[in-house]
Amino acid sequence: MTKKIISLILISMIIFAVGCVSKDIKTEGQNAEDKLKVYASIYPMYDFAKNIGKDKIELHLMIPPGAQPHDWEPTAKLMAKMENADVFIYNGVMMEPWAEKLLNTIDNKNLIVVKASENVKLLKIQDHDIHEHEEEKKHHHGEYDPHVWLDPIRAMKQAENIKNAFIKADYKNKDFYEKNFKEFAEKLKALDEKYKIELSKVKNREIVVSHAAFGYMADRYGLIQIPIRGLNPEEEPSAAKLSEIADIMKDKKIKYIYFETLTSPKLAEVLAREVGAKTAVLNPIGGLTKEEMDLGKDYLKTMEENLETLIKTLGE
Ligand SMILES: [Zn+2]
Repeated sequence: MTKKIISLILISMIIFAVGCVSKDIKTEGQNAEDKLKVYASIYPMYDFAKNIGKDKIELHLMIPPGAQPHDWEPTAKLMAKMENADVFIYNGVMMEPWAEKLLNTIDNKNLIVVKASENVKLLKIQDHDIHEHEEEKKHHHGEYDPHVWLDPIRAMKQAENIKNAFIKADYKNKDFYEKNFKEFAEKLKALDEKYKIELSKVKNREIVVSHAAFGYMADRYGLIQIPIRGLNPEEEPSAAKLSEIADIMKDKKIKYIYFETLTSPKLAEVLAREVGAKTAVLNPIGGLTKEEMDLGKDYLKTMEENLETLIKTLGE
């Protein structure tokens, strides 16, 4: 046995090892390719998809953090990327008036489309939520309220629809998606229980909110929503509407006005000053800001924060 032979053996072992490593990297790369490519329209759809798909999906949030979800449209670049997508998730109920055009435009025969509000019991838009502004009439919202995700029980049905689509698109991981959905549904159930118990104890029921986003939450927990704006947070209410709300607030001795993180608090502040009320944040979660996402906030955490705010402000 010479040194030469030993070193030859060593060298061939090294080559073999390197070969294995590079092969592993390639396999990992292929796995990444195998991941379901999922595009979710608004933040809640992204959040539910993340909870169910976890590391088995490559998830894209279409409406970027900080953008107002009611006033957004996909770019041509994004539409082109979606020709390689496996699953597209949207809320429906006219939350994404651009979805139909997108589906007619892109060339992707294998795309699985999930309308998360399918088979969810919808609420009609209340008369006082309908816009009075001329500009608004151009953006017809349809008959039903789109903010389905703000009721944890309806959110569970949305998550279930997403889970079913993942199973359809990637059957070999069925058990994984089922297990994750079950875990997430348990959390939503616990959230609902907490809302029910805590909100049954508060003495005030009226919530004066920035835009008409809390209809489903109000319906589930017996609150009364008084929206300053209609379904579109960008809409400016008339002077008559503002004075009507000011009168209701004085009459019912309402102590708080809630504003959102994605719209300016100015109007809420002006109205609060006029009636001697305070302001607080109630987040409709249609979109989170970049800061909120960097802080690790998500649907469940934000719903918990909303509940804390409601307990504090409605209990006063
Ligand atoms: Zn909204």
